[in-house]
Amino acid sequence: MLIGALVGGLIGAGPAFLVAWLMLRRRRRIYRNLRAQLPPQVSPEQVCDVRYASARRLKSMLKILPWELTGILFADEHGLSAWLQSGNGKRNLTLRFDPERDVVEWRGQESFMRNGPLNWLAIGTPKAPKHFFTSETGLTILGSKDKTQDIVRMLQSSLHLTRCLQCEYELWGNTTGVCPECGTAFARPTAELAGQDDADDEAR
Ligand SMILES: [Zn+2]
Repeated sequence: MLIGALVGGLIGAGPAFLVAWLMLRRRRRIYRNLRAQLPPQVSPEQVCDVRYASARRLKSMLKILPWELTGILFADEHGLSAWLQSGNGKRNLTLRFDPERDVVEWRGQESFMRNGPLNWLAIGTPKAPKHFFTSETGLTILGSKDKTQDIVRMLQSSLHLTRCLQCEYELWGNTTGVCPECGTAFARPTAELAGQDDADDEAR
């Protein structure tokens, strides 16, 4: 009886598992191809495999998956870039973020009802971020919180353009390694941004 139920369960879950596995294989191919096109000065530790959703996609009720594109998010000496592709390779999107204008924010879950338990970071202007990223997590969507927070930390250590994970205090240009607002430690910036001055024009 028990074995019958187990086998039945496995057969039932089989197709879903196969689809997830095929989709993962396709995403891995995209990561590999995009990474191969990176200029040599981008170090592999500063490249993240991500899934992407626009703000509109995350708000939409009509979808099978919350993400729409797959690709890489990476930091270089000028700022941040994302190279993204649809699963069938037909849609390509290149995003370039400006350290003077855009911030990276930890967002956590964006509506469990619409998007499930995936966790997100957002890049854009603080009041209206348009671009959302979540880490690759393999076959399941477990572990997206830790892995996506790792990406935020990686970006914090590479650039000066993020907010505190705890209290959302603006950490631009902060080199102490400790949030002055709540005392949370963060990875200190290691790369100086060229020509960065006081960009704190968020007077709203
Ligand atoms: Zn803080």
